[in-house]
Amino acid sequence: MKIFCIGRNYAAHAKELNNDIPDEPLVFCKPHSAILKNRKPFFHPNFSNNIHHEVELVLRICRNGRHIEERFAHKYYDRITVGLDLTARDIQSRLKAKGHPWEIAKGFDGSAPLGDFISLDEIEDVNNIEFSLVRNGEIAQKGNTKDLLFSFDKLISYISKYFILHQGDYIFTGTPKGVSKLNIGDRLEAFIGDKKLLETKVL
Ligand code: ZN
Repeated sequence: MKIFCIGRNYAAHAKELNNDIPDEPLVFCKPHSAILKNRKPFFHPNFSNNIHHEVELVLRICRNGRHIEERFAHKYYDRITVGLDLTARDIQSRLKAKGHPWEIAKGFDGSAPLGDFISLDEIEDVNNIEFSLVRNGEIAQKGNTKDLLFSFDKLISYISKYFILHQGDYIFTGTPKGVSKLNIGDRLEAFIGDKKLLETKVL
């Protein structure tokens, strides 16, 4: 199983971190061991003092494929949820400044809390999905797929040029603005519309 993530796929988020808007999808991977499921707590690692939450819609790939054309891409995912692309921003900034890969800032254990998947049949319009992150009872991030720079279909087509997609792979599709530092004791809940699909506590 592979976990693909997309960076800077919402313009307002790229801007808040002073990054340029990309002209092609920015793809990176997390290892399997990053996944945190079933409302398990996230244990804050001591190598970072600035772990950010990034709430993202996550697609589950439902059939194998490579070199997928954009017009057929919708047939390759059938389930969706919300996930968190937890990011050690202090480490990432240090690595970025040197032009180094940022794996340890993004792929560490537990860095990908994942919600319960729902069927795409429950989604009226994939180009208008509202999702959000609530931290300690208050809205922290709010996004809508109408603001995506690269659509789900574009991402699948792009990724499958370089990596074969297998049934069961995940794609984290990018975070909207509002990322910020997690504190020990935070309670995080993530939603698609008003459906709560993810919950975790920072310990
Ligand atoms: Zn992200």
